[in-house]
Amino acid sequence: MKKVLVGYGIDVDAVARWIDTKDGSRADPVEISRGMFGALVGIDRLLKLLATYDIKASWYIPAHTIETFPEQVSRIMEGGHEIGLHGYSHEYVSHLSERQEREVLQKSIEVLTSFSGRKPSGWTAPAFTTSSRTVHLLEEMGIQYDHSFMHHDCQLYMTPYSDYGAVPTAYQGAHNLSRSAAAWMKRMPNPEVSSLVTVPANWHLDDWPPFCPGDNSSNGFIDPYVVERMWKVHFEYCYEEYNEFVFPLSIHPQISGKPQIVKMHQRLIEWINEFEGVEWCTFEEMVDRYKQGLISGYNVIKAMGTNEEIIPTHRR
Ligand SMILES: [Zn+2]
Repeated sequence: MKKVLVGYGIDVDAVARWIDTKDGSRADPVEISRGMFGALVGIDRLLKLLATYDIKASWYIPAHTIETFPEQVSRIMEGGHEIGLHGYSHEYVSHLSERQEREVLQKSIEVLTSFSGRKPSGWTAPAFTTSSRTVHLLEEMGIQYDHSFMHHDCQLYMTPYSDYGAVPTAYQGAHNLSRSAAAWMKRMPNPEVSSLVTVPANWHLDDWPPFCPGDNSSNGFIDPYVVERMWKVHFEYCYEEYNEFVFPLSIHPQISGKPQIVKMHQRLIEWINEFEGVEWCTFEEMVDRYKQGLISGYNVIKAMGTNEEIIPTHRR
């Protein structure tokens, strides 16, 4: 008997995604209107879709979205969904100082907690970028799980710390040319594991790259049937190869709230529901089941083997 946990992680980036210009350059009012569409139109379309199939999802909401669109976010809460962290204004964490990263986390935990009456347990990194400090900070602030890392694509696992000392290869530039190559020719030490669980993120199970026009990281004009087929093939492979797995999708109201993509989700949900052993749940529920031993997962540390400096000959 298969055991498959399927769920939607919904990033309500709204306006926050577009006013985070990183360098303070002016945000484009039309981009802001796309964000407003997400909050004002997209959320309700997705809520209706999920209600039709009685699916509870995990909504990762920048605190800026909650403060700007409280009515829409209230409707998410009323639908019985989970809400989780996604920065204040969708800050790219890899660009922040430690102080800024800490301030953003504290403020967004505060806003989500006072809005929902409950401390959030999950976090998704805006644009799936983290710093090497992030896992430590999330742990320090009592967050239970992450949905950003990509060590696996269909198994839950304990999140490794990411300050494991991988040495960047640096030989360009006048200064670096005088360096010895010995400076970077070092094996990456094995990471240590944190108390967080990762619900794996996956760019190939995300609606932004194929469907968001005018953004550097995306194409924007992929036929929804192409993406639907790709997601189905991913699911089929996992169903054939694993007795137990998770299928976490990442979507955005300003993208998946478009008519042609809502229809794609309808078809996908109905197709997935034909498989035996499938259960839709929030990411928080996936993590709870994993911690209780009700679904198996992956172990990054075990997979990497011993922490020897030199890799044994037979495993080279
Ligand atoms: Zn986002």
